[in-house]
Amino acid sequence: MNLLSVNECGLYCKQGNFYIDPWKPVKTALITHGHSDHMRAGMGNYICHHHTIPILRLRLGIDNVVQGVAYGEQFHINGVTISFHPAGHIIGSAQIRMEYQGEVWLFTGDYKLSVDGVSQPYELVKCDHFITESTFGLPIYNFPSNQSIYESINAWWRSNAQEGMNTVLLGYALGKAQNILAHAEEDIGDIFLHGAVDNVNEALTEVGFKFPGTRITSDTRRDAIRGALIVAPPSAMDTPWLRSLKPFRIAMCSGWMQIRGARRRRGVDRGFVLSDHCDWQQLNQAVVETGAKQVYVTHGYEHNFSRWVQAEYNIGASIFKTLYNDAEEENV
Ligand SMILES: [Zn+2]
Ligand SMILES: [Zn+2]
Repeated sequence: MNLLSVNECGLYCKQGNFYIDPWKPVKTALITHGHSDHMRAGMGNYICHHHTIPILRLRLGIDNVVQGVAYGEQFHINGVTISFHPAGHIIGSAQIRMEYQGEVWLFTGDYKLSVDGVSQPYELVKCDHFITESTFGLPIYNFPSNQSIYESINAWWRSNAQEGMNTVLLGYALGKAQNILAHAEEDIGDIFLHGAVDNVNEALTEVGFKFPGTRITSDTRRDAIRGALIVAPPSAMDTPWLRSLKPFRIAMCSGWMQIRGARRRRGVDRGFVLSDHCDWQQLNQAVVETGAKQVYVTHGYEHNFSRWVQAEYNIGASIFKTLYNDAEEENV
């Protein structure tokens, strides 16, 4: 019997009668992390990591039907033993482990093996059945080290500041923005934030996180931001808000920036290959190291990656068709 399967509401555990990251309203929803394609409104009850609770409150406006759990804490639903483990994707992100009658199933949610210094680093969890995302599941995705990207970002900011230009970095407000801010060298200049980023940072202070940066408001004097680093979500592109920050140079931070032409298509000056997902090598490493005998591939390059796993490692592999969509999150 399969412990997990996909139905019209989401990833369903029949034995436990609960869902993981469902896309339609259900009674019990286990939530891997706070991105909008994984955490939706209308569930009867949410179970998530403690650090996801302020995000849930910020984005969905609820907190009365939420149960927080710690990494590694075991609990039971209808005889299924459940625990959340660090996924290394964003603050509060979790892989969800389910054990029933001696078989272990693991859903990664979104994850990465590289360490960003903000989210709890990925934990290898052994399992029999492994359900993995595949956002960057092609061999061309071979990300440089995070450290080298942080250094490139700071060097670029420094040279822009020396020329009297502002530096705008575009990154998703939950995850990428905190990753950027945690590694910005504050001696280069001041740091300013788009309201969407500041809202997330503000929410995360409730669970002990603190990030640098001042919110830009209508009162912010334009000479105050001269040479500054400004972090904004990609939706700020081509808005009056952005134009008011001139003169600036602008960059996109995303795994998609590895593809030739992606920077030009986005109309930015620079692209930094900073991702909150596994690249090809990390996906392969995770599949092998979990020791899984069966792999199910979700959102991304699921056809390519499942065929590859089957052929390369002789591990059974198939596709779970889900409605998760990290194209939006990484902002193609
Ligand atoms: Zn995500
Ligand atoms: Zn996702």
